[in-house]
Amino acid sequence: MARYTGPVCRLCRREGEKLFLKGDRCYSNKCAMERRSGPPGVHWRSRGRFSEFRLQLREKQKVKRMYGMAEKQFRSVFVEADRRKGVTGENLLQLLEGRLDNLVYRSGFSSSRSEARQLVRHGHVCVNAKRVDIPSYLVKPGDVISIREKSRGMARVNESLEAVEGRSVPEWLNLEKGAFQVTVKALPAREQIGHPINEHLIVELYSR
Ligand code: SF4
Repeated sequence: MARYTGPVCRLCRREGEKLFLKGDRCYSNKCAMERRSGPPGVHWRSRGRFSEFRLQLREKQKVKRMYGMAEKQFRSVFVEADRRKGVTGENLLQLLEGRLDNLVYRSGFSSSRSEARQLVRHGHVCVNAKRVDIPSYLVKPGDVISIREKSRGMARVNESLEAVEGRSVPEWLNLEKGAFQVTVKALPAREQIGHPINEHLIVELYSR
């Protein structure tokens, strides 16, 4: 399925939660969820009750949209999470958090995951001093992610780094702002992933 290219605030309203898809706007009072938090469309009040399946589906859609992934890609991450030892739901979140585009966003080099994806695709990001242009690249503990020297003057990178104080960098990352680099101390434990996600609903959905 093709990637969604419509208005992203609609996705937050659909899921009834802020998914932080639009950079700085999400942290301001211009956020559509602050103004109109109901689902998009005219007849949403008359939609049916929430069944178990519907709850599971909505949770999966929410997480998929949050990380900006297509269904096929998301499902293959789930398959890998299921294959690994440990709790599948936690593995899933760890695999999602370990994506290079997520790391670039979490470190504050971009204001949203979609912008991070673009930075990676356009070759502005290095892992251990080597250029990597694959947004789904999985980082490992000890990896150093940096912005290419040539790209360090980019206004959007600098503006995002300035704004990062407002949303704080996760404790499992060590950001050196001056050096435009971040070190992955460890992949996050479940309690270090701040998003309100019920991963067990996604596991139940895919295990049907
Ligand atoms: Fe969602 Fe951000 Fe739009 Fe608010 S501004 S509705 S958080 S995408």
